[in-house]
Amino acid sequence: MTAASRPEPFRLSSAPALSRSTADRQETLRTDPERLRAAWPSARVIRVDGHGRAPVPEHRIVGVEPKDVPLVSVPALDVAETVPDEAVFLGRWRDADYWAVSAEPGPDAHSLALDLDGWGVPVEVPVAAGEVWVELRVHGAVLDDTAAGLLTTALALRNWHRRARHCARCGGTCRLRQFGWASRCEQCGREEYPRTDPAVICLVHDDVGVNGEHVLLARQPVWPPTRYSVLAGFVEAGESLEGCVEREIREEVGVAVRDVRYLGSQPWPFPRSVMVGFAARADAGAALAPAEGEIEDAQWVSRDRVRKALAEGDPDLRLPGGTSIANVMIRAWAEADE
Ligand SMILES: [Zn+2]
Repeated sequence: MTAASRPEPFRLSSAPALSRSTADRQETLRTDPERLRAAWPSARVIRVDGHGRAPVPEHRIVGVEPKDVPLVSVPALDVAETVPDEAVFLGRWRDADYWAVSAEPGPDAHSLALDLDGWGVPVEVPVAAGEVWVELRVHGAVLDDTAAGLLTTALALRNWHRRARHCARCGGTCRLRQFGWASRCEQCGREEYPRTDPAVICLVHDDVGVNGEHVLLARQPVWPPTRYSVLAGFVEAGESLEGCVEREIREEVGVAVRDVRYLGSQPWPFPRSVMVGFAARADAGAALAPAEGEIEDAQWVSRDRVRKALAEGDPDLRLPGGTSIANVMIRAWAEADE
């Protein structure tokens, strides 16, 4: 920084893990069944199991530092001769159509405990035939850009399908159309499209300098001990995103925030959210009043302590795992000009 330059408000320095993608969605092809069916023999397919897990090569994730891990895709003709009814069209990448289908790891699968997210709770995942079936929510950050994008879309659609079997107007049975991207009631003809619920997540810092000296971190009672993050909440009917930020922070810790500004977003298909990330300022040292039952503890934490926790780990301050947008927000703030 030169003497003449002023500190800038911090921005996200990298894309959130699940906002990465390389495939072109090619949305017009969803209504072009002839074209999609004709290209099935050269298409690639990713498999997703009943728990929403998908396979990656075992040698890319076990016994190594996993990074840029691809999904295993299989030739479409290994799955079926023609497009299966339940197959979902994900888009095109490197001259191939990509689809998702439901599949299971197989009867000889064994279980493996994987802790790649720093959450402190290893997740049991199945291993079979040289493939580890990873969970997007926990392992998304170690996937490569293509894998992250394809699996995020596949899960978002799968989770919508599970909740869109009956018509919201008449209760009739719905059938999927447009290769997973629409559904239609067989009784009344009502059409529905995949829904996404917005949620806000906000990094609140104090008002010392441009980016503050302390960040507001809190923990929910259901989280593993010493786990802290920034605050988040669902947008209510008739509410703006900024209004939601102000309300959630006030409700959860009793703090008034101002200067709410957008940082970035990421899809969070668990089951169907998009997390919209913001930064906001509050008075330095503002008293914190955690909402009973919702927030177990809230603290103003210094930048030095956050930097140290990110660099070395801190058993008393476990920060969000790499798949969450909270991780990217906290890192960006920690690296910011003071
Ligand atoms: Zn209906």
